[in-house]
Amino acid sequence: MSTSTDRTPSAAQTPYPFEAPASEHLFARARAVIPGGVNSPVRAFGAVGGTPRFMTSGRGPYLRDADGREYVDLVCSWGPMILGHAHPEVLEAVTAAAAEGFSFGTPTPREVELAEEIVRRVDPVEQVRLVSSGTEAVMSAVRLARGFTGRPLVVKFAGHYHGHVDALLAAAGSGMATFALPDTPGVTGAAAADTLVVPYNDPEALEAVFAEHGDRVAALVTEAAAGNMGVVPPRPGFTALMRRLTREHGALLVSDEVMTGFRVSAAGWYGLEGPQGAGDDGGVAAGAPDLLTFGKVMGGGFPAAAFGGRADVMAALAPAGPVYQAGTLSGNPVATAAGLATLQRCTPEVYDHLDRVAARLSSAASAALDDAGVPHTVSSAGSMFTVFFGPDPVHDYAGARSQDTQAYAAFFQSMLASGVHLPPSAFEAWFLSAAHDEEAVGRVLEALPAAAQAAARAQSSLSGQTGT
Ligand SMILES: *Cc1c(COP(=O)(O)O)cnc(C)c1O
Repeated sequence: MSTSTDRTPSAAQTPYPFEAPASEHLFARARAVIPGGVNSPVRAFGAVGGTPRFMTSGRGPYLRDADGREYVDLVCSWGPMILGHAHPEVLEAVTAAAAEGFSFGTPTPREVELAEEIVRRVDPVEQVRLVSSGTEAVMSAVRLARGFTGRPLVVKFAGHYHGHVDALLAAAGSGMATFALPDTPGVTGAAAADTLVVPYNDPEALEAVFAEHGDRVAALVTEAAAGNMGVVPPRPGFTALMRRLTREHGALLVSDEVMTGFRVSAAGWYGLEGPQGAGDDGGVAAGAPDLLTFGKVMGGGFPAAAFGGRADVMAALAPAGPVYQAGTLSGNPVATAAGLATLQRCTPEVYDHLDRVAARLSSAASAALDDAGVPHTVSSAGSMFTVFFGPDPVHDYAGARSQDTQAYAAFFQSMLASGVHLPPSAFEAWFLSAAHDEEAVGRVLEALPAAAQAAARAQSSLSGQTGT
């Protein structure tokens, strides 16, 4: 318990350049009653250090924290807030829905409208079932695929995240096509044993796994474009290969669009890439995923998610078919009001705006890092992008992990100090909204040069070079 000041960093050396007493106080209280002080791990700032900001309100592109400081938000609740925070018309729809009652445990009109909106937007979705989280959507899709095919195995890619589904919290074994090991305590070897993990964007590894195990594979589950190791899109031809191999081996292709769905285009990543590897009939169905999962944007900030796809596969779900799936709050009337009001306002103009702002911000970040001499790569999937703090293009998880996370942490802290809320991890996408206007974009642009300099200093201290 030294009280000496000589070992205390001076203000100039303090890595966290401003105080946040209200957030610090709340974080201390939170840690007493909530494990790690947060209800989802990345929020704890573990990867970047410092105190997570406890946000009290959001409007348009801005968040306000408990200390009254305002930030341009480039997280957007990890994707859902595509129209910006507290969009007036969505707020009106939610308020009106809540005034009519919160949950009935019966069918309601709006869940039909939301299902129709999803089916209208995404060609391969003929039928859709609503659930409450992306995790639930993927878990249910995997069960359905196993029930429909009568097969046990699921193939996934290293670095792809599908929520905290036991069978998919599995890490690659040592070989190229080995069975997976649990990625966390609490997942049994048995739960992971029916999962095969292969490197992403690696055609040989995928061919090998299907050659060896193809007749026992129920589904290949893939992020439509990876966004949870940072943004890493499929390389040209890779989605077509997935489609061809699953078809040849009688497995289902499950495209997880929880992050990309309704965000990168009106029909998500599928809308950008289209049907891949058309088969006999040459139609949409031939090259489309068999099942797709959705969440994030389609809930407009409320708990709503979905899985859907081929009508013959969806017909295997209870009560139409034998595969059980249910939910007390599924299709909740307030959540569906938020989702519907949000999707109805996701117009072509909104997607154009997101694309333009993404191009401006990513190239400005890149220019600032160039000026500061920080090696980096911008990786994009539509308007989602990640600035990787390493020199090489990233195509897989090993590539994503080779980046300089210390440099990112310094960049993040400087941006935060300048009033820009970035994802508190180098392995995440930056998210924009329709509300990110000139004023908000201008504030980000102003903050970039100092953050790039901070990253440059962190990088040289990490590699042991003193610079001066
Ligand atoms: C966020 C996400 C999930 C999990 O969704 P939750 O609503 O957090 O359970 C699943 N898959 C992908 C691709 C995601 O980005």
